[in-house]
Amino acid sequence: MGSALDAVVVGGGIVGLATARALLLDRPGSAVVVLEKESAPALHQSGRNSGVIHSGIYYPPGSLKARLCAAGRRSIETYARDHGIPVEITGKLIVATRIEEIDRLDALAERGRAHGLTVRPMSPAEAAEVEPHIGCVAALHVAETGVVDFPAVCAQLARDVVELGGEVRTSCRVTAVATVPGGQRVTTTSGELRTRRLVNCGGLQSDLLAAAAGANVSGRIIPFRGEYRELVPAARPLVRGLIYPVPDPRFPFLGVHLTRGVDGGVHAGPNAVLALAREGYRWIDVDIGETVDTLRSPAFRHLARRHLRDGIGEVVRSLSERRFLAELQRLVPELRAEDLQPAPAGVRAQAVLDDGTLVDDFLLVSGPGALHVLNAPSPAATASLEIGAEIAGRLTTP
Ligand SMILES: Cc1cc2nc3c(=O)[nH]c(=O)nc-3n(C[C@H](O)[C@H](O)[C@H](O)COP(=O)(O)OP(=O)(O)OC[C@H]3O[C@@H](n4cnc5c(N)ncnc54)[C@H](O)[C@@H]3O)c2cc1C
Repeated sequence: MGSALDAVVVGGGIVGLATARALLLDRPGSAVVVLEKESAPALHQSGRNSGVIHSGIYYPPGSLKARLCAAGRRSIETYARDHGIPVEITGKLIVATRIEEIDRLDALAERGRAHGLTVRPMSPAEAAEVEPHIGCVAALHVAETGVVDFPAVCAQLARDVVELGGEVRTSCRVTAVATVPGGQRVTTTSGELRTRRLVNCGGLQSDLLAAAAGANVSGRIIPFRGEYRELVPAARPLVRGLIYPVPDPRFPFLGVHLTRGVDGGVHAGPNAVLALAREGYRWIDVDIGETVDTLRSPAFRHLARRHLRDGIGEVVRSLSERRFLAELQRLVPELRAEDLQPAPAGVRAQAVLDDGTLVDDFLLVSGPGALHVLNAPSPAATASLEIGAEIAGRLTTP
């Protein structure tokens, strides 16, 4: 088995890669290996998202999300610029399309100011100067939002890890973890490793990995698919930048939005439907065992009881092009069915407690000789470099 490594990071998504890089920067020369089950890094959440650098406006002051997103949006922008990765700070518009949303928009403006963001409430006429095709009763412009090529960030992080003396091992699935004297024994599909520390950045699989490693896990990951459409090239001029609805405060998801990416393409979505497999990117991707497991879990049953109507609404929106379009037309009334074409979906790893509470903040949990990232949904890509630094700090502080 060889001598023990200093750290094994499970998961080659943006959080795992940023963590490995931070560990190597903190302790130059240490032996750090990232284990990724897929044939390349970033094939799950980190490569299937909206590509938005979030400002942090939504997150409660004092939360990990607020702190790490505020620092993370700056560090990811600098990192991208330093490495020639496409990035642009475009600003975004949050639009109220109903009078009853205006109070929530005002509360967001307040929160934005408390976070030191450059927010500007706008009348419909002012908002139309930013986005000529929107329909709204009021809007809020947030200057510090942007877009970046997250897969390119991940590829660069993986190169950094190797340049700093670490290793990224792909096609290597962790199948078991056991505590042994001096650390952990990690069993993988390509052999066993010994490590002094283990960091679990397994995203959609993180709760299973944590349980396998003997951590005390309450709740579980519930996979919520986010489906997208793309605007056909002829319809792209309808959207200049980023157009978001006012979020529903009951959910950690931001609602179907329109985002012009670094490549000039415009994405529409994502919705949020229960995925029928942890990595279920289409309705036909069904894993009976995983689905039964989810449906039987107290977390899901309590969640379903609270949000049955909303859940059904999302399913209808998923199955009906017309309903999906109607949601987008609230933001840009001129959009037509022929303006949309299919685009790949993503699946969010959302932690839900046994009582049905959706975990809002990032959740980092220590277990024996290990640290488990048990909730790293949006804006974890934005905040990734800071999450990595936070984890490295927690691991190196005795
Ligand atoms: C639809 C959608 C839109 C989003 N939009 C944004 C956005 O605009 N901005 C933003 O900041 N964030 C966004 N996010 C959130 C962001 O993408 C995630 O927070 C982030 O990518 C999480 O990274 P991760 O490394 O934790 O997870 P992942 O990228 O999912 O990586 C986990 C990795 O662990 C590997 N793994 C799992 N189990 C094992 C095992 N047993 N052995 C080895 N490897 C294993 C997986 O293969 C995977 O590669 C979005 C997410 C989704 C799904």
